[in-house]
Amino acid sequence: MTPSRAFPDTFPAAIKALVEAHGLGGFQKASPLRRDALACVALPTCALAMAEAERYLPDCVSLLEACLAAHGLERDTLHLRITGCPNGCARPYLAEMVLVGKAPGRYNLFLGGDVKGQRLNRLYRENIDEAGLLEALEPLLAAARRAYLVAPIKIAHTCSCLQASTTPW
Ligand code: SF4
Repeated sequence: MTPSRAFPDTFPAAIKALVEAHGLGGFQKASPLRRDALACVALPTCALAMAEAERYLPDCVSLLEACLAAHGLERDTLHLRITGCPNGCARPYLAEMVLVGKAPGRYNLFLGGDVKGQRLNRLYRENIDEAGLLEALEPLLAAARRAYLVAPIKIAHTCSCLQASTTPW
Protein backbone atom coordinates (compact mmCIF):
# COMPACT_ATOMS: atom_id res chain seq x y z
CA MET A 1 0.00 0.00 0.00
CA THR A 2 1.49 3.38 -0.99
CA PRO A 3 1.20 6.27 1.47
CA SER A 4 -1.35 8.06 -0.71
CA ARG A 5 -3.81 5.16 -0.55
CA ALA A 6 -5.97 5.94 2.47
CA PHE A 7 -8.38 3.24 3.59
CA PRO A 8 -11.75 3.52 1.84
CA ASP A 9 -14.81 3.49 4.12
CA THR A 10 -15.67 0.00 2.89
CA PHE A 11 -12.30 -1.49 3.89
CA PRO A 12 -12.71 -4.41 6.35
CA ALA A 13 -12.27 -3.26 9.95
CA ALA A 14 -10.25 -6.38 10.80
CA ILE A 15 -7.59 -5.47 8.23
CA LYS A 16 -7.50 -1.84 9.43
CA ALA A 17 -6.96 -3.10 12.97
CA LEU A 18 -4.19 -5.46 11.81
CA VAL A 19 -2.41 -2.58 10.02
CA GLU A 20 -2.63 -0.40 13.15
CA ALA A 21 -1.50 -3.27 15.41
CA HIS A 22 1.71 -3.61 13.38
CA GLY A 23 2.40 0.12 13.43
CA LEU A 24 1.76 0.55 9.70
CA GLY A 25 -1.06 3.09 9.94
CA GLY A 26 1.07 6.22 10.13
CA PHE A 27 0.13 7.27 6.60
CA GLN A 28 -3.44 7.89 7.81
CA LYS A 29 -2.21 10.79 9.95
CA ALA A 30 0.55 12.01 7.61
CA SER A 31 0.59 15.53 6.19
CA PRO A 32 -0.71 15.94 2.62
CA LEU A 33 2.87 16.60 1.52
CA ARG A 34 4.18 13.34 3.03
CA ARG A 35 1.16 11.31 1.94
CA ASP A 36 1.49 12.29 -1.72
CA ALA A 37 5.30 12.42 -2.06
CA LEU A 38 6.95 9.98 -4.46
CA ALA A 39 10.54 9.02 -5.23
CA CYS A 40 12.32 6.54 -7.46
CA VAL A 41 14.58 3.91 -5.90
CA ALA A 42 17.85 5.62 -6.97
CA LEU A 43 20.84 4.75 -4.74
CA PRO A 44 21.83 2.06 -3.97
CA THR A 45 19.48 0.07 -6.21
CA CYS A 46 19.75 1.89 -9.53
CA ALA A 47 23.09 2.01 -11.33
CA LEU A 48 22.03 5.19 -13.17
CA ALA A 49 21.41 7.23 -10.02
CA MET A 50 23.52 10.33 -9.48
CA ALA A 51 21.89 11.30 -6.16
CA GLU A 52 19.70 9.89 -3.41
CA ALA A 53 15.94 9.83 -3.94
CA GLU A 54 13.97 7.20 -2.00
CA ARG A 55 16.32 7.34 1.01
CA TYR A 56 16.34 11.18 1.02
CA LEU A 57 12.58 11.55 0.67
CA PRO A 58 11.60 11.26 4.39
CA ASP A 59 14.17 13.85 5.51
CA CYS A 60 13.34 16.16 2.62
CA VAL A 61 9.63 15.96 3.45
CA SER A 62 10.37 16.77 7.11
CA LEU A 63 12.39 19.79 5.99
CA LEU A 64 9.62 21.00 3.68
CA GLU A 65 6.95 20.35 6.32
CA ALA A 66 8.81 22.70 8.65
CA CYS A 67 9.06 25.34 5.88
CA LEU A 68 5.36 25.07 5.07
CA ALA A 69 4.43 25.23 8.76
CA ALA A 70 6.56 28.36 9.21
CA HIS A 71 4.34 30.02 6.61
CA GLY A 72 1.05 28.55 7.86
CA LEU A 73 0.71 26.34 4.78
CA GLU A 74 1.10 22.90 6.37
CA ARG A 75 -2.37 21.65 5.43
CA ASP A 76 -2.03 22.64 1.77
CA THR A 77 -1.32 19.94 -0.74
CA LEU A 78 1.92 20.01 -2.65
CA HIS A 79 2.99 17.13 -4.85
CA LEU A 80 6.69 16.44 -4.39
CA ARG A 81 8.74 14.05 -6.51
CA ILE A 82 12.43 13.17 -6.18
CA THR A 83 14.46 11.19 -8.69
CA GLY A 84 18.08 10.20 -8.73
CA CYS A 85 18.61 11.18 -12.38
CA PRO A 86 16.73 12.89 -15.24
CA ASN A 87 15.25 9.63 -16.55
CA GLY A 88 12.27 10.40 -14.35
CA CYS A 89 11.04 7.03 -13.11
CA ALA A 90 8.92 8.76 -10.41
CA ARG A 91 7.14 10.78 -13.13
CA PRO A 92 8.66 14.06 -11.92
CA TYR A 93 7.92 16.39 -14.80
CA LEU A 94 4.19 16.64 -14.05
CA ALA A 95 4.55 17.27 -10.32
CA GLU A 96 4.33 20.61 -8.58
CA MET A 97 7.75 20.53 -6.90
CA VAL A 98 10.55 18.25 -8.08
CA LEU A 99 14.16 17.47 -7.26
CA VAL A 100 16.10 15.70 -10.02
CA GLY A 101 19.50 14.34 -8.99
CA LYS A 102 22.65 15.83 -10.51
CA ALA A 103 25.35 14.63 -8.09
CA PRO A 104 25.51 13.44 -4.46
CA GLY A 105 23.50 15.98 -2.44
CA ARG A 106 22.75 18.15 -5.48
CA TYR A 107 19.55 18.50 -7.48
CA ASN A 108 17.83 20.51 -10.17
CA LEU A 109 14.65 22.09 -8.77
CA PHE A 110 11.60 22.11 -11.04
CA LEU A 111 8.40 23.95 -10.09
CA GLY A 112 4.93 24.56 -11.38
CA GLY A 113 3.62 21.26 -12.71
CA ASP A 114 -0.04 20.42 -12.41
CA VAL A 115 -1.36 17.50 -10.42
CA LYS A 116 -3.99 16.84 -13.11
CA GLY A 117 -1.27 16.40 -15.72
CA GLN A 118 -2.28 19.50 -17.67
CA ARG A 119 0.95 21.47 -17.21
CA LEU A 120 4.61 20.47 -17.18
CA ASN A 121 6.87 21.96 -14.55
CA ARG A 122 9.94 23.99 -15.48
CA LEU A 123 13.52 24.23 -14.29
CA TYR A 124 13.75 26.83 -11.52
CA ARG A 125 17.21 26.29 -9.97
CA GLU A 126 20.15 24.19 -11.17
CA ASN A 127 22.51 22.01 -9.17
CA ILE A 128 21.46 23.20 -5.69
CA ASP A 129 22.12 21.58 -2.35
CA GLU A 130 19.73 21.52 0.63
CA ALA A 131 20.67 25.04 1.73
CA GLY A 132 20.05 26.25 -1.83
CA LEU A 133 16.65 24.57 -1.84
CA LEU A 134 15.61 26.37 1.34
CA GLU A 135 16.91 29.67 -0.03
CA ALA A 136 14.97 29.20 -3.28
CA LEU A 137 11.73 28.22 -1.57
CA GLU A 138 11.63 30.87 1.15
CA PRO A 139 10.41 33.80 -1.01
CA LEU A 140 8.03 31.53 -2.94
CA LEU A 141 6.36 30.25 0.21
CA ALA A 142 6.13 33.76 1.61
CA ALA A 143 4.43 34.87 -1.63
CA ALA A 144 2.19 31.80 -1.54
CA ARG A 145 1.11 32.73 1.96
CA ARG A 146 0.29 36.29 0.90
CA ALA A 147 -1.74 34.89 -2.00
CA TYR A 148 -3.40 32.37 0.30
CA LEU A 149 -4.60 35.16 2.54
CA VAL A 150 -6.42 36.70 -0.42
CA ALA A 151 -7.82 33.50 -1.91
CA PRO A 152 -7.19 29.74 -1.51
CA ILE A 153 -4.67 29.57 -4.32
CA LYS A 154 -2.46 26.53 -4.37
CA ILE A 155 1.21 26.97 -3.59
CA ALA A 156 2.27 25.40 -6.86
CA HIS A 157 0.13 27.82 -8.83
CA THR A 158 1.84 30.68 -7.06
CA CYS A 159 5.23 29.11 -7.71
CA SER A 160 4.33 28.66 -11.36
CA CYS A 161 3.22 32.26 -11.74
CA LEU A 162 6.34 33.56 -10.03
CA GLN A 163 8.45 31.33 -12.22
CA ALA A 164 6.76 32.83 -15.27
CA SER A 165 7.33 36.31 -13.83
CA THR A 166 3.61 36.98 -13.58
CA THR A 167 1.67 37.75 -10.43
CA PRO A 168 -0.71 35.07 -9.16
CA TRP A 169 -3.16 37.50 -7.57
S1 SF4 B 1 14.96 8.06 -12.29
FE1 SF4 B 1 17.10 7.52 -12.72
S2 SF4 B 1 17.95 7.00 -10.69
FE2 SF4 B 1 15.72 6.91 -10.51
S3 SF4 B 1 15.22 4.75 -10.88
FE3 SF4 B 1 14.98 5.88 -12.84
S4 SF4 B 1 16.95 5.58 -13.88
FE4 SF4 B 1 17.27 5.09 -11.70
